[in-house]
Amino acid sequence: MATLVIPLSGWGRYPVQSCEVERPERYADLHSEAASVIARGQGRSYGDAALNENRRVLLTGRVNRLLEFDVEKGVVRAEAGATLAEILEVIVPKGWFLPVTPGTKFVSLGGCVAADVHGKNHHHDGSFGDHVLGIDLILADGSRVTCSPAENAELFWATVGGMGLTGIIGEVALKLIPIQSPRMMVQHHAAANLEQLFQHLQNPALDDSYTVAWIDSLASGLQLGRGIAMCGHHAAVQELPAGFDHALAAKPGRSRQVPFDFPAWVLSPLSIGAFNALYYRREGKKQQPFLAGYDPYFYPLDAIGQWNRLYGKRGFVQYQCVIPDNFAFDGIRALLQELSGSRRPSFLAVLKRFGAQGRGLLSFPMAGYTLALDLPIRSEKLLAGHPDDGLFALLDKLDEIVLRHGGRVYLAKDARLSAESFRAMYPRYSEWLKIKNAVDPQNRFSSSLARRLEIGGNTI
Ligand SMILES: Cc1cc2nc3c(=O)[nH]c(=O)nc-3n(C[C@H](O)[C@H](O)[C@H](O)COP(=O)(O)OP(=O)(O)OC[C@H]3O[C@@H](n4cnc5c(N)ncnc54)[C@H](O)[C@@H]3O)c2cc1C
Repeated sequence: MATLVIPLSGWGRYPVQSCEVERPERYADLHSEAASVIARGQGRSYGDAALNENRRVLLTGRVNRLLEFDVEKGVVRAEAGATLAEILEVIVPKGWFLPVTPGTKFVSLGGCVAADVHGKNHHHDGSFGDHVLGIDLILADGSRVTCSPAENAELFWATVGGMGLTGIIGEVALKLIPIQSPRMMVQHHAAANLEQLFQHLQNPALDDSYTVAWIDSLASGLQLGRGIAMCGHHAAVQELPAGFDHALAAKPGRSRQVPFDFPAWVLSPLSIGAFNALYYRREGKKQQPFLAGYDPYFYPLDAIGQWNRLYGKRGFVQYQCVIPDNFAFDGIRALLQELSGSRRPSFLAVLKRFGAQGRGLLSFPMAGYTLALDLPIRSEKLLAGHPDDGLFALLDKLDEIVLRHGGRVYLAKDARLSAESFRAMYPRYSEWLKIKNAVDPQNRFSSSLARRLEIGGNTI
C-alpha cells in the first residue's frame, strides 16, 4: 500500500513530526506489517500519542462503516475509524445516546477505546471502556482476535487505555443509553472560590447525571479557583415545551472554521482575564434550569472548527491531571496557585469529579478530581528543541505537585512527561507490560509517546 511522508501533529500542534502515513480504505487492509506502527483515528489527542516519528502511522478514518445498530437493545457495532459524530447522527433520532462522551464528537471509536476516554458523567458511569461489549483487535503477528470483558479479558483491559500499543482496534461494539429527547436540562451554580466550587461538586442536591466546572484560571488570592459548576441531564418528555419538534432537534449543529493562525498576543493575560470576568458574570447568572441542545452542551468547542488555530502556529499544550479524593482540594489549590503565580493564562480550565478507577491497566481516571488546562507555547526556542520558554519548567513543577498528592497525568493530552514520572503515576504498568510482551514481543506497536515514556521497551 502507498505511503507518504508528511509532517503530523496532535490537536495541540506540538510536537510536529515527520511520519510515514498509510491510509487503508477497508477493514481488510488494516495490517501490522511495518517494523514500527501506530494506529491514528482523528488525531484529537493533543500531543504525540498518535505520532510515530520517521515510522509508520496508519490512518483509520476511512475504515468507518456502521456495521449494526440494534434499535431495540441499543447496541451499535462499527469499524473503529467511525467518529462519534457519525454514530450520533444515526442513534439520536432513534432515542439513544453515547454512554460516555469526551468534549468533542470528532474522535474515532478506536481513539475512545485506546484512551479509555471519560466524560462529564464519570462519577456515575465510569469511562468509555466500561460500556464496550467487545472489540476486534489486529495483533502484531497479523492475527485478529475478539476481546471483551468475558473473552480474552486480560488483553481487553490492556487495550482499553493502552494507547494503541497492544494492536490495531478494527471494530467496536458499544452499549448505548436511552434518551427521551435530544435536549439537555442544564443548571449553573456560580462559586466565588475553590472551596465553594468543591462544595458544589460534592453536594448531592446540586449533582446531576453530568457535572463539570469551568474555572477562571487567572483568579488569585481570595478568588482563587472561582468558577461555575455546570450540571445537566437528558431532558425528559415532561420537561420539554409543548409542540417540541424532536426530528429538528436531533439534527447536529453546524460549525464555523477559524480561517488562519491567530497571532500569539491575541490570547494574552489581559484578553483572557477580560473574557473570564465576562464569562463568569454571564454564565454564573443562569441559576434556573434551562434547555440546551446536546451539541452545545457536550461539544461547545466543536462549534468552531480548527479552534486550535486560535493559539497561533506554535501551538499549545494541554495539561490534564487527576488528584485522588483525599488530597484533591490541597492538590488542585497548589496547582492553581502555581499557575496563577506564573501569569501564564490557561484559556480553558476545567475541573471534573471522577468516580472509581476503572479496569483498564493504563486508564487515566481514578476516584478524585481532574483538572485540565490549555497552555499556549510562546517561544520559538521550545520548538527549536531548546529546553523551553519556561512552559515546560512550569509543567515539571505541576508534575511534582501531582506526584506529591498521589495523582497522574493523562497520556492522551500529554506531550512532555518524563518516563520516570510516568512509572510513578501508573503503578499497573508492569502488569500491562507482561501482556504487551506476550502479544507483541518485538514491540512493533510503538509511538512517539511510547518511546518518550519508555512504554513497551525502548528498542526500536
Ligand atoms: C476539544 C477536545 C476535547 C476533549 N475532551 C476530552 C474529554 O472530555 N475526555 C477525554 O477522555 N478525552 C478528551 N479529549 C481527548 C480525546 O478524546 C482523546 O485523545 C481520543 O483518544 C481522541 O480520539 P482520536 O480518534 O482523535 O484518536 P487519536 O488522537 O488519533 O489517537 C489517540 C490514541 O488512540 C490510539 N488509536 C486511535 N485509533 C486506534 C485504533 N483503531 N486502534 C488502536 N489504537 C488507536 C492512537 O494510537 C493513540 O494512542 C478531548 C480532545 C479534544 C480535542
